[in-house]
Amino acid sequence: MVSEMTSRERVLAMLNGKPVDRVPVVTGSTMVVEYIKKSGGKWPDFHSNPEMMVNVAGMMHTDAGIDSVVVPFGMFVESIALGLDVKMGRVDIQPSVRSFFKKPEEVNYANFLENTYVQTTLEAIKLAKEKYPEAAIAPFLVAPVTLAGDLMGAENLSMLSIKCLQKEKQMAKMEKWLSIALEINKIYAKACIEAGADLLYYSDASASPNLVMPDFYYKVGVPVEKELGDFIHELGCPWVLHICGDTVPIIEGMASTGADCLSVEQAVDMKKATEIVGAVPIAGNLTPLLMVEGTEEQIVNETRKGLNGGAKASMLGCGTPPLSTSDRLKTWVKAAVEWSAENL
Ligand SMILES: [Zn+2]
Repeated sequence: MVSEMTSRERVLAMLNGKPVDRVPVVTGSTMVVEYIKKSGGKWPDFHSNPEMMVNVAGMMHTDAGIDSVVVPFGMFVESIALGLDVKMGRVDIQPSVRSFFKKPEEVNYANFLENTYVQTTLEAIKLAKEKYPEAAIAPFLVAPVTLAGDLMGAENLSMLSIKCLQKEKQMAKMEKWLSIALEINKIYAKACIEAGADLLYYSDASASPNLVMPDFYYKVGVPVEKELGDFIHELGCPWVLHICGDTVPIIEGMASTGADCLSVEQAVDMKKATEIVGAVPIAGNLTPLLMVEGTEEQIVNETRKGLNGGAKASMLGCGTPPLSTSDRLKTWVKAAVEWSAENL
């Protein structure tokens, strides 16, 4: 029996493959409207005000009992900081990137770290660390394939991902975009770690088999994710890799990036996934919508199913839906705690 851990200790132990007092419960993005209202947050200010951001994200930890505190809210910070158009969404809709560059040469990231939104993330990490030293502070960042897709436009990514496997010239083009994305990723990752992040949570949504072929992921996606991951490890920080969709066909590739934990969607059969990857911890696959409209029984059953399938942390299949309710979030955490008491 492992003696009681703080949330931070619990999450870091899980990432290290060490025993835990109970399975951690962690999240991706956490722009939850109920917590925005309860903490006095205002849209869109909570995207650019570190205190407001941390007050919202912190309630996932202090009120719901989630082990991580996740900032910022959404996958737009890298893009807005590079000058792309971003629609700010609504209090219940995350911001989305609306424009792209025509040529890699147009991307200027010399002043990336000075951007307001990037600074907000970095300040929010510092503040979260001060306010919740016992929690795992986990910035939510855009991984290289997805960032390259934001830079060149999602449609161009999907076209070029096919062409580049056939023609060397197209591969050179793809590599140019990816190398810029990687440079930006590294600058941002280093700054987040220096600000006090306990782990980095990366979503490579556009590396999903729904959007690009597994062949592309193995040949092109894995090497760039691994390069970023190795860079993060050299700085002494663990990282988690999330990819959307049914990732069973690419899960071996995901594991080979060296990520300390793989985060998977509800489309993934947890048992199958854990059998394939063996020692690398997997988290996820709880249907996010359960946090909006699930019954207690459904939440408990799905939580237990994921853990019985070999998940090392309980996690939703993607970000926490904005309309999640605190009572459902608490039911989820309680289910993971109870499963641990019976099974660990
Ligand atoms: Zn996802």
